[in-house]
Formats: sequence, C-alpha cells, structure tokens
Amino acid sequence: MALRKILTEGDEQLLKHSRKVEKFDNRLHTLIDDMRETLENSGGVGLAAPQVGILRRVVVLLDVNKEPEEMVELVNPEVIEQKGSERVVEGCLSVPGVYGYVTRPTWAKIRAQDRFGNWFEREGEGIVAQCFCHETEHLDGHLFTEKVEEYIDPEAMQGGDEE
Ligand code: ZN
Repeated sequence: MALRKILTEGDEQLLKHSRKVEKFDNRLHTLIDDMRETLENSGGVGLAAPQVGILRRVVVLLDVNKEPEEMVELVNPEVIEQKGSERVVEGCLSVPGVYGYVTRPTWAKIRAQDRFGNWFEREGEGIVAQCFCHETEHLDGHLFTEKVEEYIDPEAMQGGDEE
C-alpha cells in the first residue's frame, strides 16, 4: 500500500466528472487500499478518488456511528434516498483549513458496489449522511465550497472533521 497525494483546491482534476468503474480488478483493489491508507493518515472522514487524481467513481469513508468506527468502500455510489435537513459544519481534505455551514440531509441511503462488484445498500445518519453526499459530489466535480452558506473562523474550528 502507498499513501497518495491529496490534491487541493485549484487543481482542475477536482472539477472533473469521474468515470464509472467497470473492472473490479487488482488495479482497483490497489487504488482502494491506497485510499484507505491515505484517509487513515489524513485524519479525515471521507476520501473520493478524484481527490487523489484518479477520475473513477470510488469513495472510502469512515462510518463513525459504528463502534468501533468502520471503513466503508463504495464503488459507483449513488445517494438513492434522503430525509430531513440540518445545517452542519463541513470541511474537506482538498480545501484545508476552510470550514463552513452547509445544509445536508439528516439521513441518507446509498447504493454502491463493493470492490468485487457486488451491489449493496447502506444507511447513514448525521455526519455519515453528510459524508455520503459530500463524497458523491466529488465524483461529479463539485466541492463543498459551492454549498457553503457561511464560512467559519478557522481558529474556532481546531480539530474539525474533513471529508
Ligand atoms: Zn471533500
């Protein structure tokens, strides 16, 4: 496994549409393993492949609502259902040090494939629902800063979660 470099705002790869994964091969598995390691090393809660410069629909995220926290691998993910709405603080590994308020669902259901191509569904509440939305938006070239309603003074946000 290897750490991958996380691209930051201004890199045009972050604004591009990622392609569907069609081959569930060793190359995909290496990418997912590297993304897991990179996310663990970053201290963030979610990472999408375009953030490491790979324009494929792959996401890894931490389900922090599980005890212990569970790393979830999502290939070709789609948010298929969402409920509720709340104003939450958000950050992004690709926009370091920047936090702002965005409106997100309180609950969401995602449909995705695992690294072998098997389809599954998963539900998440709170920060996990937020993360489902944030990460799938990366796959379409969108950054959370497009949704920020109000920015927060970074000094007030030491140690916040980044996605
Ligand atoms: Zn992000």
